[in-house]
Amino acid sequence: MPEPVYFIEPDKKKEILKTIDVLSFFHESTLERLAQESKEVSLKPDSVIFEEGDPGTAMYIVLEGEILIYQGENSLTSMLPGTFFGEMSLIESVPRTAGARTLVPSVLLEINESQFQEYFATQPQALMAIMKTLSARSRKISTGLTSSTHVRQDFNGHSSTEDTVISLDEHYREVLVFDPKTFQFIKANSLACMDTGFTPEEIKQTTFIELAPHLDPGKLTRMCDSLINKIRPMVSFETALKRKDGTTYPAECKLQLVGPGGSQPEILVWVQDITERKQMENTIRQMAYYDSLTGLPNRNLLNDRLAVAVANASRNNQKVAILFLDLDHFKTINDSLGHEAGDQLLQQVSLRMKEILRKQDTVARMGGDEFIVLIPGLTDADHTAKLAEKILASMAPAFKIGDNELYIGCSIGISIFPDDGMEIRTLLKNSDLAMYRAKERGRNTFELYTPSMNFKAMERLAVEKNMRKALDREEFELHYQPKINLKSGQIAGMEALLRWDSPELGMVMPNQFIPVAEETRLIIQLGHWVLLTACEQAKRWREAGLPEVPISVNLSVIQFTHPNLVTEITKVLEQTGIPPHQLELEITESVLMQDTTLAVAILKKLSELGIKISIDDFGTGFSSLNYLKNLPLDYLKIDRTFVKDYNLQTNSAITKAIVTLAQSLNMKTIAEGVETVEQKEYLQELNCDEAQGYLFSKPIPTQQMTELLITGKKF
Ligand code: C2E
Ligand code: MG
Ligand code: MG
Repeated sequence: MPEPVYFIEPDKKKEILKTIDVLSFFHESTLERLAQESKEVSLKPDSVIFEEGDPGTAMYIVLEGEILIYQGENSLTSMLPGTFFGEMSLIESVPRTAGARTLVPSVLLEINESQFQEYFATQPQALMAIMKTLSARSRKISTGLTSSTHVRQDFNGHSSTEDTVISLDEHYREVLVFDPKTFQFIKANSLACMDTGFTPEEIKQTTFIELAPHLDPGKLTRMCDSLINKIRPMVSFETALKRKDGTTYPAECKLQLVGPGGSQPEILVWVQDITERKQMENTIRQMAYYDSLTGLPNRNLLNDRLAVAVANASRNNQKVAILFLDLDHFKTINDSLGHEAGDQLLQQVSLRMKEILRKQDTVARMGGDEFIVLIPGLTDADHTAKLAEKILASMAPAFKIGDNELYIGCSIGISIFPDDGMEIRTLLKNSDLAMYRAKERGRNTFELYTPSMNFKAMERLAVEKNMRKALDREEFELHYQPKINLKSGQIAGMEALLRWDSPELGMVMPNQFIPVAEETRLIIQLGHWVLLTACEQAKRWREAGLPEVPISVNLSVIQFTHPNLVTEITKVLEQTGIPPHQLELEITESVLMQDTTLAVAILKKLSELGIKISIDDFGTGFSSLNYLKNLPLDYLKIDRTFVKDYNLQTNSAITKAIVTLAQSLNMKTIAEGVETVEQKEYLQELNCDEAQGYLFSKPIPTQQMTELLITGKKF
């Protein structure tokens, strides 16, 4: 027989959801999404939803019908439309403590664990509401009728107390009576004795202050007085109670005046053990304020702390620094090694950061590979740059993830309260902008916010929007920059450099659009276009009988780790008939830092094909030189920063070291950014093989390069 199916109209479903208190914090669109994503379950009468001891994997919202919650033979309660159940096991990760089955045909919405995490764990108010419902419900269910019978038996014969007992909240299990002058207990019910470990005789030898050592006697006297003088009918407070064996437990106490009154008033204490509630509050606080992967504060807690830090700083005339940190090329690691490796890396990164920071600083995970460091109470904003450097340096040593040694850099953007904004939102946005700037500047660096960045950000959006169209509209072109042999002065090769001639934005340089192309992964198509265009051009020069100089093409990290790379290159070579040794690929050190095992495998394949490989911008990365000897590399390209200030002692030492290293590894060196004759001569002295730079030629369009090849000019 087919299962019966009961439908609920979507509108009605939404109306029901809106009446549920824990969902009232959600935006309507969120509610709709929740309703759509969740499984709707329709059940016949007497279908079991779960049984006592089952592992809890979902919570349920009743849309229609009635659900019975039971323990063994006992019915505990029933759930009607607009209520929810089963959530306890998701918060506490304990097996079900009760069973649930339908009484009549019913429809439920099933919220699974990951939805619960997504919707509720990120919403502290919703969690608090769930918690309140839970604690009220557990009180009702667990103590139910029994406590009131106990109380009545215990106080039999004391008619006024019995009356009070009946009229009072039934969920307070332990009841004691004490003398407000001496705080000495006069009597207690058996549950109070059981829970505290005292015999009824012993309890009469004890005072309330001994039982509640944190309670201030003066405060207790004032509370009792307000009851005796009938200013208040009842007072309640939370405190820790001490058992006979010395252990303590958190309790909520309610005080009420009993007895004949007059000259001998007595005070009744209702005690509720709130251990479970406290634990639940802790769990919820943990879920609502901390990131479950790294244990770091999350966005909610960061916002709270930021608000406090900013308020304190403006009161004390201090500054607050916000460091926005994003890992470089984290996505590549996730994509190539899997999420588990990515998660482990995030955990290790968190540990390293926690180690450098002071107690009063906060490092929070904002999600993904984004972190924020909050430095409160600064008197000198200079301190932040030093800290950013320290963070960068702490990321330099390899991360050991399984069998892999990974290197990862990060880019940091810094904004300072009150200099870069008075509002938290502005400060966060500005640190984010500065972080993007750091990425643009080549990553693994930090950048302080400046107002001009807002303009840059607008530009960036325009870049992203237009770039997608640009490939189709053939707005990209290649320029070529000659590489010069420093001994013979002849052209030894050329580098293909991408240019974007955009009708909307004018001539856009690669540093402006390559990072955007990488983020949007448009670099895959764009990079293919570069490779094909460069090889086709080489073919044309070849057919024209011009000297066959090697052409180098820059590869982005994303292209490099793309599984199709080797096939793609082979195809292009076949298609154009270019011999492999005429093609060179320029990769940056960061490619090798990602995942050395993968990089080595790809490099080996490429070199087996006969393609030459250069390490671009060499000397700027954090990579260890040790890996070089195992790799099939042909050129080290000395970064232009070392060439620019070659007369600085450190730079000249680095340049010398790179040349010596390359020679010992049988590699050639090429210097970038050579602009002056002095620089050229210095490099010649060092025995550097080749050079590239404005001194010889800027990158030039195809036509000009053709002329240069025809004249065979010497430099
Ligand atoms: P790169 O590969 O290090 O290229 C050298 C850069 O230095 C070029 O900048 C070039 O114009 C510039 N340059 C050359 N000689 C001098 C000089 O004497 N002084 C100074 N100050 N600069 C000089 P460009 O063309 O703006 O390219 C910047 C970067 O963009 C390149 O750095 C490369 O990493 C990237 N790029 C360029 N084309 C492509 C491409 O087709 N694919 C990929 N993935 N990246 C590319
Ligand atoms: Mg290059
Ligand atoms: Mg370079």
